[in-house]
Amino acid sequence: MTIGILALQGAFIEHRYKLDALGVDSFEIRQAKDLDRKMDGIILPGGESTVMYKLIQDLNMEEKLISLIKNGLPIFGTCAGLLLLSENVQNFDYAYLKTMHITTVKNAYGRQLGSFKTTATFNHEETIDMIFIRAPYIQHVGKDVLVLSVVDDKIVAARQGNQLVTAFHPELTNDLTVHKYFIDMCKV
Ligand code: GLN
Repeated sequence: MTIGILALQGAFIEHRYKLDALGVDSFEIRQAKDLDRKMDGIILPGGESTVMYKLIQDLNMEEKLISLIKNGLPIFGTCAGLLLLSENVQNFDYAYLKTMHITTVKNAYGRQLGSFKTTATFNHEETIDMIFIRAPYIQHVGKDVLVLSVVDDKIVAARQGNQLVTAFHPELTNDLTVHKYFIDMCKV
């Protein structure tokens, strides 16, 4: 199994460490041709969604990325990665790749003081630590979206078929639950 990690900006190396810990091979996606490599899934890391999206466009990756997602390649977006996949983005002028039926609020907890740590359940099973950094939350989900985590009545993890998103950063805690869940999605 091999996972490609978008490595244009943001916290991509931390995802590699998690995959290493699970014994899963990974490589960094830095150019459009990297999207042609054989892979079983893609991770879109946290960072700054607008900057990441501009780089995706400038490097001619947008169309290819959208078609891989629409063809069913498993994809996992954390924080800025969640925003990239959202069909609607509130608190901002436009949406990015728009492949997932969710409405997301950008910088939903405030711009500067919006970072915090909490504990909540993921997939109604495991209780895990969650780190939020200038995070979005999901305000509305489509009928085909499964809610996986809720914190303070706000949806912070969800799945729509091959697409998994978290508003928090599972790559920054010691727990492997969310990455394991994604790897299971990549096996089918
Ligand atoms: N606030 C960032 C954005 O709008 C997301 C922050 C993060 O990825 N930690 O893209």
